[in-house]
Amino acid sequence: EAKALGKNTYYFYNDTLDAAAKERLFIENELRIGIKEQQFELYYQPQININNEQIVGFEALIRWHHPTLGYIAPDKFIPIAEATGLIVELGEWVLWESCAFAQRMALKDHGSNISINLSARQFKDTSLIPLLEKVIAKTGIDAARIHLELTESMLMGDVEGSIKQMHQLKALGVSLSIDDFGTGYSSLSYLKRFPLDILKIDRSFIKDIPEDSNDMEITAAIIAMAQKLNLELVAEGVESEEQIDFLKINNCEVVQGYFYSKPVPEHEISLMVDKIQGNGF
Ligand code: C2E
Ligand code: MG
Ligand code: MG
Ligand code: MG
Repeated sequence: EAKALGKNTYYFYNDTLDAAAKERLFIENELRIGIKEQQFELYYQPQININNEQIVGFEALIRWHHPTLGYIAPDKFIPIAEATGLIVELGEWVLWESCAFAQRMALKDHGSNISINLSARQFKDTSLIPLLEKVIAKTGIDAARIHLELTESMLMGDVEGSIKQMHQLKALGVSLSIDDFGTGYSSLSYLKRFPLDILKIDRSFIKDIPEDSNDMEITAAIIAMAQKLNLELVAEGVESEEQIDFLKINNCEVVQGYFYSKPVPEHEISLMVDKIQGNGF
C-alpha cells in the first residue's frame, strides 16, 4: 500500500501515475483532433506465396504522422483509442479505406486479399456486422477477400460470445484470421471451436530462426497443427532467406515480413509489386 512505503515513495508513485495519465489524456486529445483533421494513413505490407513469389494480398497497417510530434506508432496510440472508444470511428475508416484499396488492387490484377486488424472493442461492437454489410455492398468486394485479424486475448474473455460473433461474421462471407498466434493463452481445444480460416504465426517464433532450434521446433509444430485444423498459414516477420527456406521445407506457403517489403503507402505499391514479382528477387 502506497502510504506504508513512506513519504518519498508515495510522492514518486503519485507523480508517475500522474505523468502516465497526463500523457494518455494528451494523446486522447490529439487523437480526436487527428481524426477530425484526417492525419491518419494506411500503409500496406504484402503477403507472398514463397513457392511462386506471387503476392496474394496485403495487410493494412495504420500510420499516424502527427503534425508536430511526428510518427506515433500504433502500439502506442491504438490501446488509447481502444480505451476511449475512439477506435470505433478510426476502425470504421480503416475498413472503408482498406476495402476500397483492395478493389483498386484487384483492378490492377495485384494480389488482392486484404487483412484488417480489428480491436477487441470493434469485434464486440454490435454495429460491426451492419458496417461490414455496407462496406461489402458499396465497394463491391468479394467478402471472402476480407481477412479480419483477431487476437487470442480478444477471443478468450467471453469464449461463447466470441464464437457467436465469429459465426455471424462468417455468415457475411468474410475470412477470419488469428493474429500473433502463440503469444496469447488460448488452449488448443478452444482453437478447434473457433471458426477460423487463417493462422498467423507470431514474429517472435520466426525471428531467431535458424539460430534457435527450439523456435524451429515450435514453428514446425504450429504449422503441423494448423494443417490438421485445415487452417491456412501466414508466417509474420520473415526477414531472411534462411527463414524462407525453413518455411518452404515445412510447408508454410505464405509469408509477410521485411525480407520482401516493409509496409508502404499506396503510391509505392506498383514499384514494390514489380520488385517482388518481377526480377527484383
Ligand atoms: P500486427 O497486426 O501483428 O502487425 C504486424 C506488425 O509487425 C506491424 O507493425 C508491421 O509493421 C511489423 N512487421 C512486419 N514485418 C516485420 C518484420 O519483418 N520485422 C519486424 N521487426 N516487424 C515487422 P506496426 O505497423 O507497427 O503495427 C503494430 C500493431 O498495431 C499491429 O500488429 C496491430 O496489432 C496494430 N495495428 C496496426 N494497424 C491497426 C489498425 O488499423 N487497427 C487496429 N485495431 N490495430 C492496428
Ligand atoms: Mg495484424
Ligand atoms: Mg501480427
Ligand atoms: Mg502484433
